Amino acid sequence: MSKFCHSCGIPLDGQIAKEAVEDFCNYCVNEKNELKPRSEIQMGVAEWLKTINPSNTDGDFIKRADYYLKSMPAWAEE
Ligand SMILES: [Zn+2]
Repeated sequence: MSKFCHSCGIPLDGQIAKEAVEDFCNYCVNEKNELKPRSEIQMGVAEWLKTINPSNTDGDFIKRADYYLKSMPAWAEE
């Protein structure tokens, strides 16, 4: 069973991302291994959504990232 980051959903397979802290990838934690603020994760996810949807130029990626994060265990309570 593959693991994924509970903040951004990236697979923790050691290829794209590696597990820096239990259940979180190296992109989602700072140098102290603390989870970054939601706003920062949201920006990163928005950028990622842009790269996988290059033809969708009118999308509100920040808003989509917000919805996306609501499905993540780390941010689901909001
Ligand atoms: Zn992550």
